Amino acid sequence: MDSINVLYVLYVCYLIASVLFVVGLKMLSHPDSARKGNLLAAFGMGLAILGTIVLHHNKEGQPITNHVWILVAMAIGSVIGWLSAKKVAMTAMPQMVSIFNGMGGACAAVISLIEFGHYSEHAANGISIGTYLTIIAGLIIGSVSFSGSVIAFLKLQGIMNKNFRLPAQNIFNSVLMLATLGLGTYLVTSGLVSMPLVLTVFALSLIYGVMFVVPIGGADMPVVISLLNSFTGVAAAFGGFLYDNQAMLTGGILVGSAGTLLTIVMCNAMNRSLTNVLFSAFGDSGSGGGASGPQGSVREMSATDVAVMMNYSSSVVIVPGYGLAVAQGQHIVQKMASVLEERGVDVKYAIHPVAGRMPGHMNVLLAESNVPYEQLKDMEEINPEFPNVDVVLVIGANDVVNPAARYDTNSPIYGMPILDADKAKNVIVMKRGMNAGYAGIENELFFYPNCYMLFGDAKKSLEKLVEELQAL
Ligand code: NDP
Repeated sequence: MDSINVLYVLYVCYLIASVLFVVGLKMLSHPDSARKGNLLAAFGMGLAILGTIVLHHNKEGQPITNHVWILVAMAIGSVIGWLSAKKVAMTAMPQMVSIFNGMGGACAAVISLIEFGHYSEHAANGISIGTYLTIIAGLIIGSVSFSGSVIAFLKLQGIMNKNFRLPAQNIFNSVLMLATLGLGTYLVTSGLVSMPLVLTVFALSLIYGVMFVVPIGGADMPVVISLLNSFTGVAAAFGGFLYDNQAMLTGGILVGSAGTLLTIVMCNAMNRSLTNVLFSAFGDSGSGGGASGPQGSVREMSATDVAVMMNYSSSVVIVPGYGLAVAQGQHIVQKMASVLEERGVDVKYAIHPVAGRMPGHMNVLLAESNVPYEQLKDMEEINPEFPNVDVVLVIGANDVVNPAARYDTNSPIYGMPILDADKAKNVIVMKRGMNAGYAGIENELFFYPNCYMLFGDAKKSLEKLVEELQAL
C-alpha cells in the first residue's frame, strides 16, 4: 500500500473510533447498556491507538519505528490501570478517577512541551500562531489539570487533611492566573521561541493548579474533579489539533463537554453556583452545623421492632447512603426488599444525586445486587411521596436527609436539596453511632419525634432485620 492509501485507512480507523466514542457515551446513560457502551468506547480507543502505531507516517513519510518503547510503556500502563481498577473499593473510586484524570492532563502538557521542542528545533521561520496557540493552551490546561487532580487525590485519600487558605487566596489565584495567561499570550502573539519562558508558563500553571484546588473543601471535591476532567478533555483536544488526529480531537471534545455538563448537573444538585463551589471554601469547617445544633436525645429501636414495623406497613422507602457502601450491605438490602415485597409491601429506593462519594454511586452499588432499576427513584420523583410513606429506612446516609439544609443559613449544606425523609410517618436511621457525615455536621432529623435509631454496622443490622422478618 502506498503512503496515501495507508493514510486513508488510518483516517477510517479514526472515524470508526470517533463514532464508537459517541455511541459508547450515549450507551453510558442507561445502566442496562452502560457496560457495553464502555467496552465499545474502549474498543474504539484501542483501534485508534493500534492504527496510529501501525499506520502513522510523519511529515517526511517515515513510519513509527520505536515500537518496543511504545509497547513496553503501554504494557506497564495497562497492568497498573488494570490492577488498580480491579482492586479499588467502590468508595475510593473518586480518588482513582482523579489520579487517572491527572495522568491525562500530564500527557497533554508533556505533548505540548515535546512538540514545542520539535518546532523550536526547526524554528528558522518561527512557529505559526495557530500551532503556538495550540501548544500553549494544551500546556496550561493540561498542567492545571494535572497538579489540581493530584491535590484532589491527596485530599480524598485523606493524605492531605487540612485545607490551606491564604488571607487573600482569591486575589492571589487571580493574579497567578492572569500572569500565566499573560505570559502565554505574549509568547503566542510575539512568536518568540523561548524554552525557558515556555517552562515558566508550565511552572506557573502547575502552581496555579495546586493553589486552585488546595483551599476547596473536601465535600466539593467531586465537582472539582469533574471540572478538572473537562479541562483534561479540552487539553487532549488541543493535542488532537496539534497532531491532526481526529480520534484524539473527538475524544477530547467529548470528555470536555461531558465533564462540563456533569459539573453543571452536580452544582444544580447541590443548588450552588460553580463560583460558589470554587471560591467559598465550603465543607472545610469540619464541625458544627446550625447556630445552636440539634437539641434533645435520640430514641433507639431494636431490630425486632423495626422488622415488625416494616412487615405491617404498606410502603417502605429505602434511602441508601455512603455507610451502606462502606458496609457492603447492597446484597442483603436487596434480599430484605424481596422479603418485604413477598409480604405485599411496596418497596422503593430514594436516590439523592450526591449520596455516597461519587456521582451515581448508589445506582452502581444497587445495580451490583440486581435491584430493578424501576425501583430507584430520583429525588424530584420521590420527594412528593414521602408524607404518605409508612417507613423510611435511612441506611448509612446522613447529609442527604439533613433538614437543616432547607433553612439554616449557617449550615455548610444550606441550599442543598435533600430527600424529604423527615416528612414520612416513621423514619428509621441505621448507622453505627452518632458520627457526622461528610459535611461534618450533626443531623437534627435524628432528634425528630418520628425518628428512631437502629445502631450498628449497616450490613449486620440488615442481616438481623432479614432474620427477624423471616421469623414473622
Ligand atoms: P454521609 O457521608 O453524610 O453519611 C454517611 C454516614 O454513614 C455517616 O454519618 C456514618 O455514621 C455512617 N456509616 C459509615 N459507615 C457505616 C457502616 N459501616 N454502617 C452503617 N453506617 C455507617 O453520607 P450521605 O450519602 O448521606 O451523603 C454524601 C455526602 O458526601 C454529601 O455531603 C455529599 O456532598 C458528599 N460527597 C458526595 C460525593 C458524590 O459525588 N456523591 C463525593 C464526595 C462527597 P456512623 O459513623 O455513625 O456510622
